[in-house]
Amino acid sequence: MDVPSLAERLNVAWADTTEPRDVESAPPGIRPVRDQSLRARVGRRDEHRCQLKLLCDGSKVLTGWDLTLDHTIPRSKGGPTTMENLTVACVPCNQRKADKLLSELPGNS
Ligand SMILES: [Zn+2]
Repeated sequence: MDVPSLAERLNVAWADTTEPRDVESAPPGIRPVRDQSLRARVGRRDEHRCQLKLLCDGSKVLTGWDLTLDHTIPRSKGGPTTMENLTVACVPCNQRKADKLLSELPGNS
């Protein structure tokens, strides 16, 4: 099985970065949250650790492009970009969740 390229793995519309200073160098497919203070606040609140824990144990402190923000209610379902609807997620977990609710994933009902 081919390992997807970094760009492919990051090609998720809702995979927002928390690194405001590197917005210009965002990989293809990343759409950074424009509100940098919101991004920083969500990162601090969640201690820069993945809250989804679908493919990880949430123990790793995420930095740079490894730290993405997941919309709990996906944007595609009308979820807002607010503190309440955003959680820190690592890229693999964010990709696994995709544009679904956690309750829609197998084993998370
Ligand atoms: Zn994770």
